Amino acid sequence: MCGIFAYLNYLTPRSRQEVLELLINGLKRLEYRGYDSTGLAIDNPESNNDDGSKIMIVRRPGKVKVLEEAVTEICKGDEYKTKLTTHIGIAHTRWATHGSPSEINSHPHRSDLDNSFVVVHNGIITNYKDVKRLLEKKGYVFESDTDTEAIAKLIHHLWQQHPTYTFRELVEQAILQLEGAFAIACKSKYFPGECVASRRGTPLLVGIKSKTRLSTDHIPILYPSAKKQRAYNKKLPADIPVLQPAPFNDDTPAEDELLEVKEVEYFFASDASAIIEHTDRVIYLEDDDVAAVKDGVLSIHRLKKSLDDSHAREITTLKMEIQQIMKGNYDSFMLKEIFEQPESVVDTMRGRMFFESKTAVLGGIKEYIPEIKRCRRLILIACGTSYHSAVATRQLLEELTELPVVVELASDFMDRHTPIFRDDVCFFISQSGETADTLIALRYCKQRGALIVGVTNTVGSSICRESHCGVHINAGPEIGVASTKAYTSQFISLVMFALVMSEDRLSLQTRRLEIIEGLENLAAQIRKVLQLNSKVQELAKDLYLHKSLLIMGRGFNFATCLEGALKVKELTYMHSEGILAGELKHGPIALVDDEMPVLMIVMRDPVYTKCMNALQQVTARKSRPILLCEEGDEETKSFSSRYLEIPRTVDCLQGILTVIPLQLLSYHIAVLRGCDVDCPRNLAKSVTVE
Ligand code: GLU
Repeated sequence: MCGIFAYLNYLTPRSRQEVLELLINGLKRLEYRGYDSTGLAIDNPESNNDDGSKIMIVRRPGKVKVLEEAVTEICKGDEYKTKLTTHIGIAHTRWATHGSPSEINSHPHRSDLDNSFVVVHNGIITNYKDVKRLLEKKGYVFESDTDTEAIAKLIHHLWQQHPTYTFRELVEQAILQLEGAFAIACKSKYFPGECVASRRGTPLLVGIKSKTRLSTDHIPILYPSAKKQRAYNKKLPADIPVLQPAPFNDDTPAEDELLEVKEVEYFFASDASAIIEHTDRVIYLEDDDVAAVKDGVLSIHRLKKSLDDSHAREITTLKMEIQQIMKGNYDSFMLKEIFEQPESVVDTMRGRMFFESKTAVLGGIKEYIPEIKRCRRLILIACGTSYHSAVATRQLLEELTELPVVVELASDFMDRHTPIFRDDVCFFISQSGETADTLIALRYCKQRGALIVGVTNTVGSSICRESHCGVHINAGPEIGVASTKAYTSQFISLVMFALVMSEDRLSLQTRRLEIIEGLENLAAQIRKVLQLNSKVQELAKDLYLHKSLLIMGRGFNFATCLEGALKVKELTYMHSEGILAGELKHGPIALVDDEMPVLMIVMRDPVYTKCMNALQQVTARKSRPILLCEEGDEETKSFSSRYLEIPRTVDCLQGILTVIPLQLLSYHIAVLRGCDVDCPRNLAKSVTVE
């Protein structure tokens, strides 16, 4: 989720101080990705080898600046100025997913007190508990709450079992045991000057800087032969030097075939922003690639060959500015985050939704489920966008838990001194986990003996710490002030909770299965919705000079109306209102005429006919509404020339697909009105005041 930066110099003399500066600088370039703590590891100067370890680890919660100060303080001696011909340093910015932000949970993580193997990791290892249990049985003592520590200790365990394995082989073996998403970079005191990195589901690239021109623009991929694959545990494939076109097999190259690589530097990073100032020659690693540098030679390995695998990884030339890399091809973080939703929803479900067995597990609240099932009501308390995620899922929660579900705005809840009982279960939803109003309501409910469930995107936040149990939405850092991907991830987290609660209800099985299927297809459908972007941009041109926008809908899509209107207000400073279509005739219809912009959500769900009635009423007042309707719904489309067709999913998930065009619409209107999309006026990302 956050940042990895590793640096290796081969026959390019650098002092430890220079290496440290490079590492800190690399981390600074990754800061924009959002993080809560930092750390790095370099070789300990021999003379300073007090604790018997050859690797020195420095870690700090907080900003890179704090780490920089710590490093400057520690590394004052002359030994840090001595040039080393070859050295490897690894560094990390952490966005906590397992364990709160603290020094002990910061990366690099180590295999043992000797720092024999140290690892930096981005992502989530979903089976870390199993790996940890196994290693604990073997006598390993864990010092952090992270999933990452299991990787370092697993490599150490494999090394003890197979003392003849190379460093790369040990990492290969380790990642075979891991499930989930990761990018890792590893360093070992037993393999000085070597670095091994790998990825699965989380980005990682390698930058190459060499004084002499590289003799190739491809790095061949090395596979063990089928026979070797079978015998992998007995004998592993040998390395083949990279910069040399290698045969598509696992032959050990003859000594004289080895390409002499002189004066080369390698950079491993989560994205190119940390590399571009050093070199523009990079290789983007693919899932399950293992990249190893030994004796200055980079080789790329894969354990299994599949039909669509290419034979080599291309060394590409970056032609981007840093600014461009940080925001990708997007003009703002908000747009980037909107487009990240196909991935962020998958991250939210990772290790929780098991599509083959059609089950859902929420590790963070598992033990409390029996207690939650016995409760008298569920109360969902939040502010702003988080509140809308509660509105969006309330109907499903009522349906699948068969409990009364109350949705509250935290400030109003507190104004009313609402009665709370010991058998209430209260959910507190907040992206940052620091929202003051929500936190005050949490403390109020806790005092009255209710069970407290936190739903946040920030591990270690106040809401996390003060809850009895919770769900971390795992949307990844959100930089844009207006929440987008956190909303869809909150939405999915609450849907998964409903699934967990109804697991043993026989009468609800068909419903559960269609929701699980819907979740499985969601990422692909979000991609499809995102293709509407240019159409949405055209619609924004019709709207941006107006003063107001009414967004109407009902049922499962009412929350989308509220959230869409909030996005328009936040970003464009234009008035906008989310209106429950059922309320239209009780007042808001007075606003409708041929001038007032109206957007209506009309999906083919149980309230379709009622929505159509509202549509008739609106068009009868000469309004030309923009319609959000189901793909291929000719009848609805016939009411307006302006419409966006949304793929169909199960009714209770439809709100995830309908909100995305509104996120895009508010973005485009804001751009046309010349507003600062990432930092709208008067707003803060985390509202820590009442
Ligand atoms: N899951 C790891 C942790 O919580 C890595 C988080 C990250 O990607 O920064 O430490």
